[in-house]
Amino acid sequence: MEEQEITVSLSTQKKEKPKSDELQFGRIFTDHMFILDYEEEAGWHSPRIIPYQPLTLDPASIVFHYGQTVFEGLKAYVTKSDEVRLFRPEKNMERLNRSNDRMCIPRVDENLALEAIKKLVSIDKEWIPTAPGTSLYIRPFIISTEPYLGVAPSRSYQFIIILSPVGAYYEEGINPVRIAVEDEFVRAVKGGTGEAKTAGNYASSLKAQELVSDKGYAQVLWLDGVEKKYVEEVGSMNVFFKINGEVITPELNGSILEGVTRSSVIQLLRHWDVPVTERKISMEEVYEAYQRGELEEAFGAGTAAVISPIGELAWKEEKLVINDGITGEIAKKLYDKLTGIQYGTESDPFEWVEVVK
Ligand SMILES: *Cc1c(COP(=O)(O)O)cnc(C)c1O
Repeated sequence: MEEQEITVSLSTQKKEKPKSDELQFGRIFTDHMFILDYEEEAGWHSPRIIPYQPLTLDPASIVFHYGQTVFEGLKAYVTKSDEVRLFRPEKNMERLNRSNDRMCIPRVDENLALEAIKKLVSIDKEWIPTAPGTSLYIRPFIISTEPYLGVAPSRSYQFIIILSPVGAYYEEGINPVRIAVEDEFVRAVKGGTGEAKTAGNYASSLKAQELVSDKGYAQVLWLDGVEKKYVEEVGSMNVFFKINGEVITPELNGSILEGVTRSSVIQLLRHWDVPVTERKISMEEVYEAYQRGELEEAFGAGTAAVISPIGELAWKEEKLVINDGITGEIAKKLYDKLTGIQYGTESDPFEWVEVVK
């Protein structure tokens, strides 16, 4: 692919930046956005950074009707010495293209997409909050824009990147949450779209989430969609259990989203010589380990929270209280190391960080 120059048109009206104690997740957006267009004959073209603004789309655009769309999520962090950093962003761009393949969306040039992220973050650098634990959330996404009510892949798309300053996930340090095992609704099935970061997976998860949050649970633990037996994910995070010294995470099976945090956790555990296994794990097995007193830790892993310890797991009539409801040793160590790498206070043995100039 020939090299494409990203043009820049700067905003003349700068928005007011939020105070660090007002930061939430995903409610405030920066001054600029990136757009890249696709049409069948031209391919992906006209990469540009423009002032943040609403889109104008035909109401018949395929994305509104059939959800042909994909997204990504990563963060930019600023260090004490004012260095702006990304964490393994090339992994997100590889995954974006895997999601594209599943959703019949044309692949994007990963180098161009990465360059776009860096350039946009650099332009809106002043928006990266500096208080501990805060960051700039980066949301690349692709929408199908062809006005057509037939069920078919679109012939036009837009690839867009927006940025949102976000607060610390944990206000008072890393904290365990209560989780309910979901045995009615399913998130994804093998052969479906669970492996892709696509809107429909999240739309279909809302109902289960709504029902359990009414009962005081933070998230649901998703089981496999066929037998409703094997553990898959927790909320929109990958899940890990520590049983009798071994860390176990469900193997990638076609319905689990492959997290960048998940693969980083596995790599770190191996580096530390902690036994880690990717395999099927049933809720029955988790419960039996709990009864034997061998269920030592459980936690979720994903970009937003990094590591989210599970303090209680409600399953059928049972309530499994894990590690007395406090954060386990491995969860804490992983959290400290991963955030330390991201914020530049820990060594980066695998060169995961990419500096934004
Ligand atoms: C994004 C996502 C994850 C976590 O992926 P990370 O790359 O670690 O942020 C896990 N599960 C689902 C369903 C997701 O959408």
